[in-house]
Amino acid sequence: MTTCRLCNAAFSQTWTAKDAKSAEPLEMALCGGCGLVQQVSLPSDAELKIYYSHNYREDYKSTHKPKLKYVHRAGHVAKDRLGFIARAGINPAGKRLLDVGAGGGEFCYIASKAGFSVSGIEPHHGYSEFARDNYGVAIETAGIADLKAKQADVVTLFHVFEHLAHPQEVISKIWSVLPDDGHLIIEAPNIHQSDASPHNIYFKAHLFYYSRFSLMAAAGQYFEPIRLEDSGNLMVAFKKRLQPLNQQALPTEAEVAVTQKRLSQKGWMEYLFAGGGLAKPFKRVAKVIEEALLKKQSPKATLDTAWAASKNLIPLYTSLGAATAAALLVDACA
Ligand SMILES: [Zn+2]
Repeated sequence: MTTCRLCNAAFSQTWTAKDAKSAEPLEMALCGGCGLVQQVSLPSDAELKIYYSHNYREDYKSTHKPKLKYVHRAGHVAKDRLGFIARAGINPAGKRLLDVGAGGGEFCYIASKAGFSVSGIEPHHGYSEFARDNYGVAIETAGIADLKAKQADVVTLFHVFEHLAHPQEVISKIWSVLPDDGHLIIEAPNIHQSDASPHNIYFKAHLFYYSRFSLMAAAGQYFEPIRLEDSGNLMVAFKKRLQPLNQQALPTEAEVAVTQKRLSQKGWMEYLFAGGGLAKPFKRVAKVIEEALLKKQSPKATLDTAWAASKNLIPLYTSLGAATAAALLVDACA
């Protein structure tokens, strides 16, 4: 491949990076047209399908089913994500939320506590089964191609989009299944962020590395952004366009140059001093202690505990009338 998977423009820069897990070399490229950072050679669709339905979770977490400390972590991450959804002004009252790549179902379960009517799809057999058995949430062992029309009002992809080999097709598929007032939430690693260790940027399973600009190139034709946060990970809430634009929403040359500059700045100095890397070992110790003290309880009780500790979210997401909830959520979480 010598041209961009997303916009077909020529690459303006190529280099060899290392996979964060195995240190094997990964050939990378920056697109001169849309600024999307991508792997030069992508696995075939058949390879990807087998990988995600069987191997992926084992490679990454060395387990078929999530450990309790992972459930605990996922519960807290789920609350952060719900905070973002609230800041985007999306009111859960009467809304069906569908989580794509739902994993062990932690986000779905917590989102149901926040008032959404939830479902999910997850290609991995073990994880989707775990979610159904432990939380009673409706998680289907399925992929994006299986989405049905008007199945949900809000579709979420948390750390999923960067794994998908055909971003534009995925976006147009989601657009076609959402109702006119539907929303799409995407969270992905942010190639502009400074708080990722230089060892922890490139992953074989991450085919694309988005920024606020290249994510717009991927999604902007079909969706309009309503909230963007990218001081760390990239989080964007979109609302569906009634009619797609005639062409991709490509960034300007100056915006592509921002990504090029950010790539050249990455390294240990930036990570340690600008990215907060110096404080990370201390935070890690605190986390290890917290997780060692976790009560031995069921995954469901672990998530219930995490939700019960969400002092800001609970009153907002449970006891408010539909009309005022969105406005109050936006204030409280801003
Ligand atoms: Zn491109």
